[in-house]
Amino acid sequence: MAIEENTAPSNFIQNIIQEDLDKGKHSAIYTRFPPEPNGYLHIGHAKSICLNFGMAKKFGGKCNLRFDDTNPDKEEIEYMHSIEEDVRWLGFEWNELRHASDYFNHLYMYAVKLIMQGNAYVDGLTAHEIREHRGTLTEPGKNSPFRDRSVEENLGLFQRMKEGEFEDGQYVLRAKIDMASPNINMRDPTLYRIKRTHHHRTGDDWVIYPMYDFTHALSDALEGITHSLCTLEFEDHRPLYDWVIESVGAPCHPQQIEFARLELQYTITSKRKLHQLVDEGHVRGWDDPRMTTISGIRRRGYTPASIRDFCDRIGITKKGSSIEMGVLENCIREDLNEHALRVMGVINPLKITIENYPDGQVEEMEAQNHPQKPEMGTRTVPFSKTLYIERDDFMEDAPKKFFRLSVGREVRLRYAYYITCTDVVKNEQGEVIELICSYDPTTKGGSSPDGRKVKGTIHWVSAEHAVNAQVNLYDRLFTHPNPGSTENYIEHLNPESLIEVSNCKLEPCLSSADLSKHYQFERTGYFVLDKDSSSEALIFNRTSTLRDTWAKIDEQK
Ligand code: ATP
Ligand code: MG
Repeated sequence: MAIEENTAPSNFIQNIIQEDLDKGKHSAIYTRFPPEPNGYLHIGHAKSICLNFGMAKKFGGKCNLRFDDTNPDKEEIEYMHSIEEDVRWLGFEWNELRHASDYFNHLYMYAVKLIMQGNAYVDGLTAHEIREHRGTLTEPGKNSPFRDRSVEENLGLFQRMKEGEFEDGQYVLRAKIDMASPNINMRDPTLYRIKRTHHHRTGDDWVIYPMYDFTHALSDALEGITHSLCTLEFEDHRPLYDWVIESVGAPCHPQQIEFARLELQYTITSKRKLHQLVDEGHVRGWDDPRMTTISGIRRRGYTPASIRDFCDRIGITKKGSSIEMGVLENCIREDLNEHALRVMGVINPLKITIENYPDGQVEEMEAQNHPQKPEMGTRTVPFSKTLYIERDDFMEDAPKKFFRLSVGREVRLRYAYYITCTDVVKNEQGEVIELICSYDPTTKGGSSPDGRKVKGTIHWVSAEHAVNAQVNLYDRLFTHPNPGSTENYIEHLNPESLIEVSNCKLEPCLSSADLSKHYQFERTGYFVLDKDSSSEALIFNRTSTLRDTWAKIDEQK
């Protein structure tokens, strides 16, 4: 299988960390992955997970998983569980599991400190007025009339905000920085707001909640994070991050470094939009195998190793670019090409009867579990008079170059015999419903003692022994390379992203398939058992196609 050249990918953050360690700036590094638990993780998060946990692992440091749970409206326990599961599935373990809400007391104390230093004030402007005072990219903002309240007054009001004396939105606490700063984030950003919402961890203890920038910077500092790695949209927030840490005199000053978000073609990497797909029923849930959520690609049959490999290959850069879906697909193909068990499965069955094969006879044919890896062993596959082959492997009016079955043509049945099609049976509509064939008993194992060659090799399953299954053929969820950039990405959903095929015929060993095993249905693709499968109703998901291997297999031997 053609494989892209695996050149060393760039990772400028790794270089920075290496330098910091060489210079003795830190004796060990400490990173964190800080998701907001408001949805399931997607492939973009995998990039951040592999970076944060990967750097810690590489340099013998530590990495925390921290739930950024300061927005009590949207967060749910279900999401936290799924995030933990996904991080572990990717092969990482956190040093400590933290929650930003662990720091609510600390953060309150720091806010009081800022007030006492004259670095923060309670503002009574409405949200609308605050926006109006903020100015624009080209015009400076205006000071709030409440900016110069005395420290005592601010302390009193902030305390009363905490004690629930005011309505939601009546007051906010703001940092006192510079309303004329060219960076809008520095124009007296809000640090605390009043919001009467039950928090899943702190209950009704708080009616004021700290804002993201304040919380995030101080959570990093309180955990002793050395390198705070985040995506590029936070670049303009870095001065505020640094200001918060310096102003409160936090115990350490983590270095914020931004990198480009992963964008993957033919899919979307935004929790909000993934939410919409689930809520509006365009997919069957967060773990629908067409979703590029981590739980979706797991169900689709992607392996953790293939995702880590993908993240390595795309590297870490400052400049954003949209990655081709083929890069991800190649990673899983390469991994499964190495490790998947080879089996035979017929997706669109066509019955064949081998006229000259003894009635009632069954032979156990020896088949390799991986033709290039004898160490993966062999199994036996029952062969009998009535078989199923793939409908596509027969053509009535076949062109010369069609090396599979047609009346009068001979092919090799994988691991079995040469057979020749002698006749067809048709139904009333004139469709071929069965092939009549003869076999050459001297060709057992797939070669002829007289040296006669056949060009085509096809897969098959014994009718009597086959197990029935439903096979879900998945394809890309969108037909547009950048659905997220279009006006209405829902319009670009691929109507053929899922084709469910029932009554597929698989070789008997697949009745004992389990979720941990990956299979290559020879000549067809890579498959994995679906979690909704049961022994009465087997369901397999197609992880990926094989990419142009048909011609090659047909030409083998
Ligand atoms: P979304 O917009 O999908 O909600 P988010 O950035 O708001 O994403 P968080 O839960 O806040 O999601 O993200 C946790 C971490 O994952 C952050 O450090 C964030 O920068 C990172 N992250 C999120 N999306 C991507 C992406 N597409 N590529 C790389 N890192 C990402
Ligand atoms: Mg977010």
